[in-house]
Amino acid sequence: MTDAPQAVPTPKPGILDIAPYVGGKSRIEGVAEPMKLSSNENALGAGEKAREAYAAAAGHIHMYPDGRAARLRDAVAEHHGLEPERLIFGNGSDEVFALLNQCYLTPGDNIVTGQYGFLAYRISAKANQAEVKLAPEPGFKAEVDAILEQVDERTKLVYISSPSNPTGSYNTAEETRRLHQALPPHVLLVIDEAYAEFVAEPDWETSFPLARDSDNIVVTRTFSKIHGLGGLRIGFGYAPLKVAEAVDRIRLPFNVSVPGLEAAVAALGDEAHQKASRELVHAWRPRLTQAIKGFGFDVFPSAGNFVLVRFPDETRNAAAANDYLNSKGIIVRPVGGYGLPDCLRITVGTEDQNRAVIDALSEFAAQA
Ligand SMILES: *Cc1c(COP(=O)(O)O)cnc(C)c1O
Repeated sequence: MTDAPQAVPTPKPGILDIAPYVGGKSRIEGVAEPMKLSSNENALGAGEKAREAYAAAAGHIHMYPDGRAARLRDAVAEHHGLEPERLIFGNGSDEVFALLNQCYLTPGDNIVTGQYGFLAYRISAKANQAEVKLAPEPGFKAEVDAILEQVDERTKLVYISSPSNPTGSYNTAEETRRLHQALPPHVLLVIDEAYAEFVAEPDWETSFPLARDSDNIVVTRTFSKIHGLGGLRIGFGYAPLKVAEAVDRIRLPFNVSVPGLEAAVAALGDEAHQKASRELVHAWRPRLTQAIKGFGFDVFPSAGNFVLVRFPDETRNAAAANDYLNSKGIIVRPVGGYGLPDCLRITVGTEDQNRAVIDALSEFAAQA
């Protein structure tokens, strides 16, 4: 025997530097059915039509899915007025980000995103041995000039989400256009519109039209939020044809499942469920905001189906609030991983859930 260390399989450089993603927690010890308001899921669940399509899919789950997702492709193209061949489908929009990163990043390249930008963009960038450059967000929203300042000749992708998670802020159509205009043409601008359907602000616009006429914009959407299909993992990107064709070469051939495809087609046609989901958020987002502000905590303006609450007190801080909510069977999302340790993100829930949150935070605020 020698003292030489045994060779063991070793991940390529950088992999072990990636902090593992911690999702919203879903359990509280001793609570059978906690209120889960930690992952911005649809409080109404999936719609009736999607559930029926999902159940009906049981009859053909022995067959591989259509690798081109043709029916969903046509349905999405029709619904949003997009060219079907320019769509990329993924196992959630998370996979679309990962595919774009895999397609465009070589070691030493970088992506640029906002300081509080969604973590999914960063993880797969690092997996491709690229660097992540963060643009400061002093106003808790992506700033065009701060992003541009980070862009250099090794920048391959810029990611913004509008509305953004976890801050809830958004970029106006004007800001998004200005960002795109100022970017060098070799940089792919990814505009994540996961929460598009919840926006009510008149100066926001979808970037689908902007993307239509550009060679370097991808707009992503998801079935996880407004459609309530987070568990089925379906998202898509609307990309320049050349980008869609490049991604098609590397994606797994059957990356979206049979039940997922069927449920997504049905969900897209279920206008009533989309409307009810949107109206629930529009009714309760302002009420939650007002109530929580009334208890002396800060609530950021949100364009999504969640609110970000800041607990500025030393004692009545975010960790204590989180513990208190947990003790009432309510799970929310600590966002220390985003550099916001004094905040909690709370999904807008059903009426009962929202009232429970308000009651719990009222009691918490009244504590000495
Ligand atoms: C929830 C969310 C998504 C959706 O991710 P999926 O993989 O499609 O479930 C994308 N971007 C942001 C910012 C989100 O919060």
